[in-house]
Amino acid sequence: MSIQTVGIIGAGTMGNGIAQAVAAAGLQAILVDISDAAVEKGLSTVASSLDRLVKKEKISEADKTAILGRISGTTDYARLRPADLIIEAATENYELKIKILKQIEAIAAPDAIIASNTSSISITKLAAQSARPEQFIGMHFFNPVPLMALVEVIRGIQTSDATNDKVVTLARALGKTPVEVKNAPGFVVNRILVPMINEAFFVLAEGTATPEAIDEAMKLGANHPIGPLALADLIGLDVCLAVMEVYLEEFGDSKYRAAPLLRELVAAGYLGRKTKRGVYQY
Ligand code: NAD
Repeated sequence: MSIQTVGIIGAGTMGNGIAQAVAAAGLQAILVDISDAAVEKGLSTVASSLDRLVKKEKISEADKTAILGRISGTTDYARLRPADLIIEAATENYELKIKILKQIEAIAAPDAIIASNTSSISITKLAAQSARPEQFIGMHFFNPVPLMALVEVIRGIQTSDATNDKVVTLARALGKTPVEVKNAPGFVVNRILVPMINEAFFVLAEGTATPEAIDEAMKLGANHPIGPLALADLIGLDVCLAVMEVYLEEFGDSKYRAAPLLRELVAAGYLGRKTKRGVYQY
C-alpha cells in the first residue's frame, strides 16, 4: 500500500516546509506541534509561501486553497493514528527525539513507518530506541523544503528494504530526488559541506585572501552559487561549529578540528545573518 497520509512532528522551519511539499503532492498532511501558537505559525508560514507561488503564477488561487485544505494542524498526537508515515522534524535534541518516538509509537498504526529529519543524530541510535527498528529511517530534507530537490534517505543498520523502498518512492512522489545513503555522521552533504566551510575560516585566518575574495573565488572557481563564508553566515556559525565538534568526537580524527577563528566569532556572538553579524555585517 502506498503512503497517503503523512504525519509531521514539529511545525517549525522544516516541518511546515515538509507539510507543504506533502500537501502539494496531493497527500494528506497532519502537522503536530506543542502549542496552538506554534501550529498556527507553521500553517501561516505555509499560507504565505503559497501566496508567493500564486503571485509568481506558479500555482492558482484554487491550488492554494486545495493544498491548505490537505494540511491539518494539531497539538494532539492521537490525531496521527491514520498516518502511513510519520516524519519527526522537531528541535534537534536526542532526548527530545526519543521522547517523541515513544509518543508516536504509542498511537501509530502497526505498519506505519517512522522517519526522522535529524541533521546530526545517528539513525541507527534512534532506531535502537524504537519498538519497530526495521520501520525506522532517516529522511533528511533541505531548507527551504518546497524549493530544494534533495532528500537524503538514510538507512540505519536495522532499517528494512521494504521501509527504504517505500520512503524512496514517497520522496519521488513529492517531486524530490532521493539519494540513498547509509547512516554516518553528517550523512553525505553536511559531511562534505561543513568541513569545506571550516577550511574557509582557516584560509581567512591565515590571511590568504579577504572574505569577499574567498567567496568570489569559490563561486567562480568551483561553480558554487554562494561562497563558503556567506553560506556559514546563512547556516549560522554556531551550527557549523557544533557540527564540526560532532565529527571530531565521532571520528576522533584531528582533521575535523574547528578553525580557531570560527570558534572566536561564535564566542563573540557573531553567529551570522540571525545576529546581523557573522563574517559579514547585515
Ligand atoms: P525549528 O526550531 O524551526 O522547529 C522545531 C519545532 O519543533 C518547533 O516549532 C518546536 O515547537 C517543535 N517541537 C519541539 N518539541 C516538540 C514536541 N515534543 N512535539 C512536537 N513539536 C515539538 O527547527 P527546524 O530548523 O525546523 O529543525 C527541525 C529538525 O530538522 C531538526 O532535527 C534539524 O536538525 C533538522 N534539519 C534542519 C534544517 C535547517 O536548515 N533548519 C535542515 C535539515 C534538517
